[in-house]
Amino acid sequence: MKAFDYTRAKRVDDAIAALADPNTRCLAGGTNLLDLMKGYVEQPTRLVDITHLPLRDIEALPDGSLRIGALVSNTDLANDRNVRERYPLLAQALVSGASPQLRNMASVGGNLLQRTRCHYFTDVGFDACNKRKPGSGCAAREGPNRIHAILGASDQCIAVHPSDMCVALAALDAVVEAQSRSGTRRIPMRDFHRLPGTTPERDTELRRDELIVAVTLPPSRFADHSRYLKVRDRASYEFALVSVAAALEMDRDHVRDARIALGGVAHKPWRALRAEQALVGHALDDAALAAAGSAATEGARPYRDNAFKVSLAQRAVMRALREAASA
Ligand SMILES: Cc1cc2nc3c(=O)[nH]c(=O)nc-3n(C[C@H](O)[C@H](O)[C@H](O)COP(=O)(O)OP(=O)(O)OC[C@H]3O[C@@H](n4cnc5c(N)ncnc54)[C@H](O)[C@@H]3O)c2cc1C
Ligand code: SF4
Repeated sequence: MKAFDYTRAKRVDDAIAALADPNTRCLAGGTNLLDLMKGYVEQPTRLVDITHLPLRDIEALPDGSLRIGALVSNTDLANDRNVRERYPLLAQALVSGASPQLRNMASVGGNLLQRTRCHYFTDVGFDACNKRKPGSGCAAREGPNRIHAILGASDQCIAVHPSDMCVALAALDAVVEAQSRSGTRRIPMRDFHRLPGTTPERDTELRRDELIVAVTLPPSRFADHSRYLKVRDRASYEFALVSVAAALEMDRDHVRDARIALGGVAHKPWRALRAEQALVGHALDDAALAAAGSAATEGARPYRDNAFKVSLAQRAVMRALREAASA
C-alpha cells in the first residue's frame, strides 16, 4: 500500500473541503477502498475518515418517503423496521450481499461507489484495463469473461457493477443526494451509475468533489409484492452472476404497475423498462412472464464465456416476478 495522509472529518463541511483535492478519498467502512489500496488499484494520497459524521439516521418523511443517511450500515438498513415493512425488496437485497461482518461495516455511500470485481481491474499484474488505466485496452474481451456484461457494454469495457443494494434501489426509483461546495444535487438512481462508453474509468455521475449524504426512497407502493432473487455460484458470500429486483403493484391477478432491475449483467444496475411496460395491464400468466423475460434481455450481446447469462437472466426475471406476485 502506498503511504497516505489520514484526517478525520468532524463536520460534513470538513469532508467536502477535503474533497477539493482530487487525490483525496472518503473512508467509510473501508471494505472496498482499503482492499483496492492494498492492491495498488487505488492510490489516494489522502483519506478523509467520514465515519464520525452525523449521517447515520433513517428518517420517515411526512410525504411518505424514507431518507437514509449515507453512513447507515448495510446491517442497520436491512434491520430497520420501516425498510423491512415498506421496502422488503431492499432488505432482501442487502442481506443477500457479502457476509454479516462485511455488512456491519459497509455503508450506503460506499456500497453505491463500490468498484467492479472484474479480475483484470483488481489485479495490477494485468496491464490492459481501460477502467484502471485509460487507453490500455480491455483484457476481459478476449480472456475469461464468464462474470462479465451482456448488456450495455462497450468495446472499451465489459465489466459489471457488483452491488445487490443498488439493484433494489434502481427498481425502487431511489434518489442519491450529493453535497459539494456548489450546493446539493439530487441524482435519480437510474442516472447515477454509468454505462462504460469511451470513459469506463468513470463508474458514476458523482463528481470527485461531491460527498454522498443520503439516499431517498419515494413512498412505497410495492411492499406487498416484491422479490430480490440472486443467482450465484455458491449460496452465500458470493457476488451475483445474475440478480433480479422485481416489484409489482397488483390489481387482483392483473399487473397495475411493475419495476424490474437486473444486477450482474451490466456496468450499472439495469432497469428493464420494456419488460415493465410489457406487464402493465396483463394477467401474470406464462405468456406475460415469458414476454417480460425476453424483453428484459433485449439487445443482449454475450461474450465468449457468458452466453449462459442471457437465458439465466430471462429465467430469473420470470421466477422473481412469479414469486413477487405470490408474496
Ligand atoms: C469479500 C467481499 C464480498 C462482498 N460481497 C458483496 C455482495 O455479495 N454484494 C454486494 O453488494 N457487495 C458485496 N461486497 C462489497 C461491499 O458491499 C462493499 O465493499 C461495501 O458496500 C462498501 O462500503 P464501504 O462503506 O466499506 O465503502 P468504502 O470501502 O469505505 O468506500 C468505497 C468507495 O466509496 C467512497 N465513499 C464512501 N462513502 C462515500 C460518501 N458518503 N461520499 C462519497 N464517497 C464515498 C470511498 O471513497 C471509496 O471510493 C463484498 C465485499 C467483500 C470484501
Ligand atoms: S472489463 Fe473493464 S474493468 Fe475489466 S479489464 Fe476490461 S476495461 Fe478493465
